[in-house]
Amino acid sequence: MTTEKKKVLIIGGGFGGLFTALDLAGDAEVTLVSETNHFTFRPLLYEYFSGEVEAWHIAPDYKELIGDEIIFVRGAVETIDFKAQTVKVSTRNDLFSYDALVLAVGGITNFWNIEGAEEFALPFRDVADADKLRREMEKALDAVSPTLAPQDARDELTFAVVGGGASGVELATKMSDLLTDAFARRGLKGEPHILLFEMSDRLVPGMGKEIREYVEKTLLKDHIDVNLQTRVLEVKPHGIVSEHNCKRNETKTVTTVWTAGVKMNPLIEKLELPKDKNGLILVEPTMQVKNRENVFALGDIAKIEEVAPILAGTAQLAFQESALAANNIRAFLSGKTLKTKHFEELGEALSLGTKNAAVLIGGNVVGGYLARDARFALYTSRLPTWHHRLKVGASWFFEGTTPKPLQPLGIS
Ligand SMILES: Cc1cc2nc3c(=O)[nH]c(=O)nc-3n(C[C@H](O)[C@H](O)[C@H](O)COP(=O)(O)OP(=O)(O)OC[C@H]3O[C@@H](n4cnc5c(N)ncnc54)[C@H](O)[C@@H]3O)c2cc1C
Repeated sequence: MTTEKKKVLIIGGGFGGLFTALDLAGDAEVTLVSETNHFTFRPLLYEYFSGEVEAWHIAPDYKELIGDEIIFVRGAVETIDFKAQTVKVSTRNDLFSYDALVLAVGGITNFWNIEGAEEFALPFRDVADADKLRREMEKALDAVSPTLAPQDARDELTFAVVGGGASGVELATKMSDLLTDAFARRGLKGEPHILLFEMSDRLVPGMGKEIREYVEKTLLKDHIDVNLQTRVLEVKPHGIVSEHNCKRNETKTVTTVWTAGVKMNPLIEKLELPKDKNGLILVEPTMQVKNRENVFALGDIAKIEEVAPILAGTAQLAFQESALAANNIRAFLSGKTLKTKHFEELGEALSLGTKNAAVLIGGNVVGGYLARDARFALYTSRLPTWHHRLKVGASWFFEGTTPKPLQPLGIS
């Protein structure tokens, strides 16, 4: 006689949701619902943007990753009825029922209601965003003639990045390297102009002093125009208005990229669950939502009091939480005691352009090409599934990870 497997419904196929699903596969009837057909390994999105890695490396289709033991449903979850234990997905008429539910929908870009930001600034969260930014850069380069004076070329090729956290720094350094390379290839005079805006008094505010000092030196060397304690007031189609020391400044730009913050997913905003003042779901150290023992929440939408603030909103936390969530869902479904876990800080690593990176090892910063390669090796080991890791590792080993230059229009 066969016993029916319990149903686990996982919403969101990112770091939290996908890794929970992979861990639980075979132990329950696992259904993974996600909006897109592919996972995104966001820590390597900058390398995708610069052409050092390809889409299939960092954004593989779920069907390649999950095999037959997980049911994948593409669609956005619209409503959840916690009492009836059912979920409505945009692409299906029938409701999905569950014995245990996992909420792992991540956040969305926060434009902080700044005038014009949502309308004109580019977000940077997925491969489509990276493609769009590359196209804008290529288009802008095509419009600049090699006869243009250095200052005019710089004015025509001015880009703004908003947010001086890890994302903004990693993106600005990649943009700088790609554009500098394009200047040389196209025989343009002068150099590109990358503006980086940060409201606080320091870059990479969440990171330690050692990495910060290395980052500051790198940005200075790369001629990135860092504007600290500067508030962005408005984004225009081709310009940015900012304020520093009560002085307003407007700069003409090709485009603005927005990396300044993450906000709550609209689905979570709608749900009546216990939350903190920022709208994060309050979760027990077992990963269960407070007062809802069959609902688990993790990743960017969840708040566990005990977790070190530096880990909040990171893939490394969502990844560690997924292992605990999977174990505890198994325990919950079989009536066993649930466990807790201490989440570790797995280290700091930053990409700094196409030839450089910074990795903190034993309190010391290792930089340069060695750090770049160490970061690649580290991230290969964190990609989902052995099969995908091996494929990607082999591709990087045999084919290399050389950046793809920005191309003129008409050349692929
Ligand atoms: C450019 C960038 C670089 C980053 N680099 C690093 C780094 O180097 N190191 C690090 O630790 N962290 C990094 N982060 C942060 C890290 O990516 C997040 O903390 C992590 O992805 C959070 O995992 P998650 O599972 O909560 O959400 P996500 O990984 O965002 O996954 C959420 C999933 O849910 C889906 N979804 C959303 N709404 C719905 C819905 N209504 N119905 C169904 N599906 C839905 C989404 O499509 C997505 O697939 C980076 C983030 C960005 C944007």
